[in-house]
Amino acid sequence: METPTPDPPLGEPPKEPQANAESPPVRRCGCGYDRHHKMVSRRGKHGFAGWLFGTFMGVSMRPRLVKYFCRMCYQEFDETTDPAVLEATT
Ligand SMILES: [Zn+2]
Repeated sequence: METPTPDPPLGEPPKEPQANAESPPVRRCGCGYDRHHKMVSRRGKHGFAGWLFGTFMGVSMRPRLVKYFCRMCYQEFDETTDPAVLEATT
């Protein structure tokens, strides 16, 4: 009769840093690019009013939401409502 012997632990296993536990993980597209990659563009999302003003009155309005999409795989994989980013994406 044999009893399986578990492998003894080899020292301490590496632990994940808990400093950024509350921040969401970095989103990436199918290519593995994150929002800061040069092949990733921002695209502002306007509401209906923004589309109306922008289309018929030529008014450039600040988007309510900015989405990040990859120009390689055309995948929208991230979004932000950060005011600083919205201001820069008119
Ligand atoms: Zn991609």
